[in-house]
Amino acid sequence: MTVLSVSNLSKAFGGVKAVQDVAFSVAAGELLALIGPNGAGKSTCFNMLNGQLKPDSGIVNLLGRSLVGMKPRDIWRLGVGRTFQITATFNSMTVRENIQMALLSHHNALMSLWKPANGMYRDEAMVLLDRVSMADQSERPCGILAYGDIKRVELAIALANQPKLLLMDEPTAGMAPNERIALMALTAKLARQDNIAVLFTEHDMDVVFAQADRIIVLNRGKLIAEGNPVEVRANPEVQAVYLGS
Ligand code: ADP
Ligand code: MG
Repeated sequence: MTVLSVSNLSKAFGGVKAVQDVAFSVAAGELLALIGPNGAGKSTCFNMLNGQLKPDSGIVNLLGRSLVGMKPRDIWRLGVGRTFQITATFNSMTVRENIQMALLSHHNALMSLWKPANGMYRDEAMVLLDRVSMADQSERPCGILAYGDIKRVELAIALANQPKLLLMDEPTAGMAPNERIALMALTAKLARQDNIAVLFTEHDMDVVFAQADRIIVLNRGKLIAEGNPVEVRANPEVQAVYLGS
């Protein structure tokens, strides 16, 4: 089932055609990697999908509904989750409280009524933490966690919103190679369990080829290749872009 479908997507900044006539789709439970050299237009694409940037032209449909012109908050409410390069957790709160906050936000509860001690969504939070193997660290403040563990908490925060689509722009930036593979393997497992469509960017080709179901390649704003890891790795144009960059 197609969750996200994009066509003719374009965005220019002054004379720079950052994204030109790009089309792709992502299915439920699928991990689609968006790759390309620096400046290829990857982040610009992401920002048009989550509502931070308005496309110059093009169609962005989530389960058949147009997202173009909608505010980020409304797009998030429709089930488009994202993880951030900068950490989005509250450092002084515990891991569990961070997840409870995310659940409250998803359920639209009033933040002002909330106190950690009242245990709202406590059990649900623990279920989510168990799914990202962080239940044993639930009572630690987020501020003292290892970087890779924060990333897993952020995944649990994203899951709290029951996303249909998860956008991850360089989720493994700053992580060691073995941690990168582990984070994306966990993401793939969760995506399959919950039927979430995942679109991610990643510099480490070992991670991309190991974890992506499909790959699309951008260069200078244009989509130059699409296929499974074997097909994309064998594509001469992709090889030229990567060897030449
Ligand atoms: P990537 O994420 O693939 O590295 P970006 O989407 O960040 O690429 O950038 C694509 C192109 O658009 C680059 O040439 C970049 O300099 C330009 N660009 C991105 N954002 C802006 C902006 N807000 N204003 C002007 N130019 C921008
Ligand atoms: Mg980028």
